Amino acid sequence: MSDRPARNAIEVRSVSKIFGSGEARFAALDRVSVEIRENEFFTLLGPSGCGKTTLLRLIAGFDFPSEGEIFLHGEDIAPLPPFKRPVNTVFQSYALFPHMTVAENIGFGLEMLGKPRAEIEARVAQMLKLVRMEQLAGRRTSQISGGQQQRVALARALAPQPKVLLLDEPLSALDFKLRKEMQIELKRLQHETGITFIFVTHDQEEALTMSDRIAVMSAGKILQVGTPWDIYDKPAERFVADFIGETNFLTGTVDGIANGVGRARLGSGIEIPATIAEGFAPNGAATIIVRPEHARAVKSGGHLAGTVETIVYFGTDTHIHVRLDQGDVFTVRQQNSRSQSCGFEIGDRAGIEIAADGAQVLRD
Ligand code: ATP
Repeated sequence: MSDRPARNAIEVRSVSKIFGSGEARFAALDRVSVEIRENEFFTLLGPSGCGKTTLLRLIAGFDFPSEGEIFLHGEDIAPLPPFKRPVNTVFQSYALFPHMTVAENIGFGLEMLGKPRAEIEARVAQMLKLVRMEQLAGRRTSQISGGQQQRVALARALAPQPKVLLLDEPLSALDFKLRKEMQIELKRLQHETGITFIFVTHDQEEALTMSDRIAVMSAGKILQVGTPWDIYDKPAERFVADFIGETNFLTGTVDGIANGVGRARLGSGIEIPATIAEGFAPNGAATIIVRPEHARAVKSGGHLAGTVETIVYFGTDTHIHVRLDQGDVFTVRQQNSRSQSCGFEIGDRAGIEIAADGAQVLRD
């Protein structure tokens, strides 16, 4: 880590993108603002249709915002056509030229820029080494595997030394094992090149494991931006808590808020301390969340009570689903210890004990 304060590579300021008009008018992006820092592995995460690709296309210059501005290193990039932006894109489909060799594909962008032959050759050799494809430099891209094609697409996009690399679901065509390998490879490439990566995915696990920071998107809006830890541990709203990881939702009331912690009264009538999400405004009933690993089933006592409905064994841990007396199902995840069962059987009465800092009140 350098001591230099992080600068913004990209600033998106109140950008909207409207498609169609009249009845068919549709906001694919609705006043989106986000700052992406230099050297960051930044991920846009959200379900299909939430506007991730639209935002990438605006940054790349393939399309224009209906409103708002985009700055690259402090400069408004609106007047710049795509090929003049120091930005490159890796598409899901790779878009390689099948009749060209691996080396020719990698050098293509540099040829288009009219770079001298010697410079192109040196740069292609460097890129082949970076993505570990030296052995296959002369092979046509129609004759290499999907994972190898992915490496060539990355090398081709990195060859002109863009300041920002946009990656639109680049791993989705790969099988599970290869995808895991390429996740590590992408992290390594980002680290070694120091280029800002903006990565698009709908896979929450991929986002959590790869990113420095994540923007969670839904229906054309960015709901929350933060480190993977922030997003998982302090989701601000229901959508984020639900989309990322498993969550128990409870309703209750909250009062006595001080220093970001309040007293949450659960349906059982018991009060527990709960972290309050930024932007929470007390307004009658509140949504309280508890991650399954922040609660355990107990034989007596606890903050909630119910009956064990299912028990699912996962090797390292066991998930116990308890039907609460109020009606909802609450899931606890507890670690297994050697040669000892979880201590419950289906139909047993169980208490739910919530860890001291396990409860959180959402903004909505
Ligand atoms: P996916 O993960 O499926 O690629 P996404 O989050 O990238 O989804 P976008 O491709 O950005 O979503 O699309 C956002 C919304 O805008 C979608 O509802 C889509 O149908 C719509 N949209 C995108 N491009 C156009 C267009 N050219 N004309 C009309 N609607 C469009």
